Amino acid sequence: MKTIDSWGLVLYNRPFREEDKLVKIMTEKAGKRMFFVKHASRSKVKSVIQPLILAEFMLKIADEGLSYIDDYREVKVFQNINEDIFKLAYATYLVSLADAAISDQVYDPSLFSFLVKTLELMEEGLDYEVLTLIFEVQILDRFGVQLNFHECCFCHRVGLPFDFSHKFSGLLCPQHYHEDERRSHLDPNVPYLLDRFQSIQFEDIKTISLKPDMKIKLRHFIDQIYEDYVGLHLKSKKFIDDMDKWAHVMDKGKAGSLENSD
Ligand SMILES: [Zn+2]
Repeated sequence: MKTIDSWGLVLYNRPFREEDKLVKIMTEKAGKRMFFVKHASRSKVKSVIQPLILAEFMLKIADEGLSYIDDYREVKVFQNINEDIFKLAYATYLVSLADAAISDQVYDPSLFSFLVKTLELMEEGLDYEVLTLIFEVQILDRFGVQLNFHECCFCHRVGLPFDFSHKFSGLLCPQHYHEDERRSHLDPNVPYLLDRFQSIQFEDIKTISLKPDMKIKLRHFIDQIYEDYVGLHLKSKKFIDDMDKWAHVMDKGKAGSLENSD
């Protein structure tokens, strides 16, 4: 058992036996692991084992089996995310996606900082739907999926109105559209934006602003990519999909009532 100090993001906790809890934390220095908290409701760490808590933990790491939280220093709470059901749903999805993307105990500080930074931007008020799309695109390679949204997979030309081919798992330029009669017929802005998202830096994310219909097109395409190449079915994603449908109905209701009052 070794003792380390590390920043960590709480992914979730669940009851264990009568009074104890198991807490899954993605740590910066030791990957994600399950931590055992004895008598959780009386523990000195009880306030820092809630999902989405970011803290500098003092941890006892076991090579096998459960690890322990000794104590903590600094704590950051994502207040705005926690107070907004939509943001919270998207943040919860990102966290479960990151959890699914790597095995336990795998050292991946870049995934940790990418997840934390994305949550910080969501907390700051940046568009959570766009942040989620960028996160989903950039995390694809953790699932072993490497898609090139930059060039035609036949002639390697760039900067053209591309379409996506599932048959070739790549882009087709107008000259090569005919290679796949079942090509996706995408709005060319979809692959263009995905290409940007793949390599975007955090400071540039603030400059991105997308219209609702473009976000919907990206959403549909990314969903299809995840369905075909990743095959994950996360409960948190289903929740977002249902919530978006519901929000859409509410919007329609609002528009309808406006029309009636006119
Ligand atoms: Zn081509």
